[in-house]
Amino acid sequence: MANIYYNGDINEGVLQGKTVAIIGYGSQGHAHAQNLRESGVSVVVGLRPGKSWDQAVSDGFEVLTVQEAAAKAQVVMILLPDENQPKVYKESIEPELTAGKALVFAHGFNVHFNQIKPPADVDVFLAAPKGPGHLVRRTYTEGAGVPGLIAVYQDATGQAKELALAYAKQIGSARGGVIETTFQEETETDLFGEQAVLCGGTSALVKAGFETLVEAGYQPEVAYFECLHELKLIVDLMYEGGLEYMRYSISDTAQWGDFVAGPQIVTEDTKKAMKSILSDIQTGKFAKGWILENQANRPEFTAINESEKNHPIEVVGRELREMMPFVKAKSKGVVGSAKN
Ligand code: NDP
Ligand code: MG
Ligand code: MG
Repeated sequence: MANIYYNGDINEGVLQGKTVAIIGYGSQGHAHAQNLRESGVSVVVGLRPGKSWDQAVSDGFEVLTVQEAAAKAQVVMILLPDENQPKVYKESIEPELTAGKALVFAHGFNVHFNQIKPPADVDVFLAAPKGPGHLVRRTYTEGAGVPGLIAVYQDATGQAKELALAYAKQIGSARGGVIETTFQEETETDLFGEQAVLCGGTSALVKAGFETLVEAGYQPEVAYFECLHELKLIVDLMYEGGLEYMRYSISDTAQWGDFVAGPQIVTEDTKKAMKSILSDIQTGKFAKGWILENQANRPEFTAINESEKNHPIEVVGRELREMMPFVKAKSKGVVGSAKN
């Protein structure tokens, strides 16, 4: 069974007197910085000049270059995009990692796949909320929290785990529960979850359902509501009470349809595909592909991203959401937009 920690199990005193540098002020960065500050932790933000810099300044933070922030802090949390981390780490963070400091990540990718090799005399740990940054922030302000994971990769001071737990508590994760894991488990399960279920699996399912209805002559607007919009309402029920509560809330006809149709859609073959995706993650094949794609300036990522924007479900969805202000239509680049 997993080791799960809640607020009452954690002594946050170990963070007292320490300054935390939050490197990056995007989805996760803005949430960690603001939650820590409101929990009484001393925070500086490390960035390059630009949009995030201006945002962090206007949110009242002391904003420094990455290197200055890393120099000033005892705990350095890297919340840059995973693909930018190795270069920024090498140039601006590593030179400031004196003995006894702590280097922290919200995802184990770069350490696990050998892209960042921290010196032996610093603590290295993970404090990873299991949810998008904007929810890490919003739930904290509501007195709740996004559950999280911690893992210790390297314990140079003897305090690494205590620090990791204190950090997780002060961003609000221990209100939901903090599970102890390893860099390997966090990295592999995070990548698998987003690829097979949360992002890859779900987008493909939504698109295939929409296409099936539209190709059969049904109106795209109806197909959009049925296959995309309504998904949130169903997932909210699962979030609150598992599959059982979702099935309790839907009609018996829908529940019977769930039982008979589900296994025809997600078949043994789907499970085989999942196993192969997991294996590519475990062997490092996926990581290598993504690292090389970035080194090549993302030719394939860019092409797919462009064509996905023009998918009919996106075109009709943009129009329908315009008419639903309560959905708070969010587009890429809008501050506060949800981002995974
Ligand atoms: P974002 O892309 O949202 O934010 C990145 C931030 O880094 C921006 O503030 C950006 O500023 C800054 N930045 C980028 N490049 C540089 C650079 N060269 N020098 C200085 N600053 C730079 O990242 P995320 O919050 O999505 O991801 C951060 C980490 O959190 C990753 O490890 C990710 O795996 C992990 N994570 C993310 C989750 C999420 O919900 N997004 C969930 C759980 C973990 P600028 O405006 O200048 O570009
Ligand atoms: Mg991830
Ligand atoms: Mg229905």
